[in-house]
Amino acid sequence: MVVKLETSLIKDWIGFKGRPFLIAGPCSAESEEQVIETAKELAKIKEVSIYRAGIWKPRTRPNSFEGVGVTGLKWLRKVKQETGLLVGTEVANEKHVYEALKYGIDMVWIGARTSVNPFTVQEIADALKGVDVMVFVKNPINPEIDLWIGALERIEKAGIKRMAAVHRGFSTYEKTTYRNQPNWQLPIELRRRIPDLPLICDPSHIAGAREYIHEISQKAMDLNFDGLMIESHISPETALSDASQQVTPDELHELLIRLILRSPSTSDPKLLDVLGELRQQIDVYDDHLIDLLEKRMKVSETIGHYKKENNITILQSARWDEIVKKAMIKGKAKGLSEELIDNIFKAVHQESINRQMKVMNDDIESHNGSDKK
Ligand code: PEP
Ligand code: MN
Repeated sequence: MVVKLETSLIKDWIGFKGRPFLIAGPCSAESEEQVIETAKELAKIKEVSIYRAGIWKPRTRPNSFEGVGVTGLKWLRKVKQETGLLVGTEVANEKHVYEALKYGIDMVWIGARTSVNPFTVQEIADALKGVDVMVFVKNPINPEIDLWIGALERIEKAGIKRMAAVHRGFSTYEKTTYRNQPNWQLPIELRRRIPDLPLICDPSHIAGAREYIHEISQKAMDLNFDGLMIESHISPETALSDASQQVTPDELHELLIRLILRSPSTSDPKLLDVLGELRQQIDVYDDHLIDLLEKRMKVSETIGHYKKENNITILQSARWDEIVKKAMIKGKAKGLSEELIDNIFKAVHQESINRQMKVMNDDIESHNGSDKK
């Protein structure tokens, strides 16, 4: 289903200075000096449209730095006066919204720990009714696309037109290289479902460490995201929150220079010819894949009937382990990543189990049916 939201395009927003649309600033506002000094440096970077700083910080454990509160809004107002940058902060309840609006904040964002909660998002949406402010909605901490879309819909229903989604990755229990798993398929699916909604990537929170910010930003640009939200601090090592993922304004500038901005489409007829030819090949292979999957599932169903007749369980882990191991070795030899093989085979296995369950249950149903007669 494609969702239609009445959002305006990011290029029509005030303050948009070209691609990528950039939101930068410290994770948290800590002192007036830190806020103003960082802003003055960031204002020198032409792509920076909005200056961000958290005033109320949602921290995992109590007794960590929980933000400076309303005082920080005065510093943001000063940033706006002194640098001309638009300013934004996170809101997590209606009181935050009222305070932010009182101080002329241009953009508010809803954090990942808030967008999971429809009650809170609704409370924020109600507080935003009739206000012309930019609202950015971060993905919820769990990878659930409908929850993300639901939050966006609540904000849109409040009459907000300048709205964007921010992809900041998803929490996992396992330790991974990045702090959050990007699960790129979710923002890609969001784009498919709401094509006109501006999409921003927050590589800082996905990375959790400054050395990965460039590669994540590049990936977001290659996936045609509209912009980036990057945490930048005048002195990252001394930051009171998210120290390891913040970059100095100079490092941010350097990172932007290294970003390759590719075009989402081309009008060059020669290139279009080559692309057209290659896309035809892809279509042929995709058709093959579908035919193969159909055949593969038919065999699974036949096996299901044999298992049923011979009273054998559907799931046989040893056999499955063997299949995956073999596929990994073969895939590796052909240059296919373990991740791809793992994802595809898990999906195929799950579908096989579903089909075999259906075979068994159909038999049970018809059996029950005959009992009743
Ligand atoms: C932040 O932007 O500093 C923040 C707390 O982000 P998130 O909600 O993505 O964790
Ligand atoms: Mn942060």
